[in-house]
Amino acid sequence: MPDQALYERISQEVDRREEEILDVVRQLLRIPTATPPGENYDQMVALMLPYFQQIGFTAERIDMPEAVFEERCRSYYPQMQGVRSNLLAKLHVGAEEGVLWYAHFDTVPVDPSLWSVPPYEGVVKEGKIWGRGTSDAKGECAAAICAFRILHALGIEPRYNVTVALTSDEEIGPYSGLMYLADLGRFDDCHYFHSLDGGSDRISIGANGTLTWTITVRGKSVHSGSSFLGVNPIEHSHTLFAELLALKEQVGTRRSAMPAPADLAQETGISTIRPVFNITMARGGLKHNIIPPEFVIEGDRRFIPEEDEEEVRREIQAAVDRARARDPQLDCTLKINPVYTSFFSDPHHPWPRKVQEVVRFVTGEEINICGSQGSTDVAYTVKKTGLVSASFGVGRARESNGHGVDENARISDILNLVKVICTLATKAV
Ligand SMILES: [Zn+2]
Repeated sequence: MPDQALYERISQEVDRREEEILDVVRQLLRIPTATPPGENYDQMVALMLPYFQQIGFTAERIDMPEAVFEERCRSYYPQMQGVRSNLLAKLHVGAEEGVLWYAHFDTVPVDPSLWSVPPYEGVVKEGKIWGRGTSDAKGECAAAICAFRILHALGIEPRYNVTVALTSDEEIGPYSGLMYLADLGRFDDCHYFHSLDGGSDRISIGANGTLTWTITVRGKSVHSGSSFLGVNPIEHSHTLFAELLALKEQVGTRRSAMPAPADLAQETGISTIRPVFNITMARGGLKHNIIPPEFVIEGDRRFIPEEDEEEVRREIQAAVDRARARDPQLDCTLKINPVYTSFFSDPHHPWPRKVQEVVRFVTGEEINICGSQGSTDVAYTVKKTGLVSASFGVGRARESNGHGVDENARISDILNLVKVICTLATKAV
């Protein structure tokens, strides 16, 4: 039975504190944390720490050691710069079970010239707050901060032991702050996992894995007037493109058992998550009259939980090998970089059902439990800890423009997320 009176107290207090909650979002927006490079993480953690320390949490800043960062992040993405700080806050109330709440405070980069609002200020208009990270995932970091402050102000003790991890480098990988904390065993006292890095229009229990690939094609650079003396790496890539596109078609026929988000299913008729192979970058050549020395082709591969990551790698290598066999002058090498693994939690497990019930109670909406085409550091964390994860956050797939220009979040969605966290934490529903 829902504790209606308890819920009403929480709900009214959240609504009453709307300005305060938006102010916390704005404070987080003002510190640029786009990765790469991912600077100012220490400053971000310094801003958030007191919010937890003031309400009785044990809160600490945990930096990824420089050597670990170098080996597991920067060797893949050299543009990454700065100290890799993370926040871990815990409140032990003597409960038998613990819940992990997680969001990331790094963002994707911004080109302010394309935005109609300043990206770091948190302008409020049309019932929304606008800025980089409002929906992915600084709005969610603010919701976590405010939820536990509101419970504390009301004198309501959570009925779970609480762990809050606000961490860095989710947007780049391949080894994020959350994954590092999981490896340190800092979530060993948790039983359930509410990832706030999600939308308010879906409850996600799984995600595709991702890797990126780079093919470097070498040629022999000469004057274009005598191009027959050289080797043109762009022209010799046509067999490569043919094989990669054949692989793309083959990959695109596969389906996961994981249900797709409702909006995607409605738009495309595809009711389950699918893998994809993409060619997303190509560069080479200096001038019309020079046969270029090199041509670089890059892309990514999203793989469903049913696919084996090693096999996924072998498939790409095999496509490159076939292209080479067809054209002996094609001189190329393939490099594959990891990003995130895949995961798929049981959609019928009581925890995602619980999150769905609480969301229904708070919002009045029936939100479907599904998988994500995207990828996340939650996957590794779930595999490492064995926790069952359900993600519900802020932002709408067709509205909030996460990763795009003019990113925004409905204020009502942020307030609802604060209510969902409070309600879950207190078992009011
Ligand atoms: Zn995110």
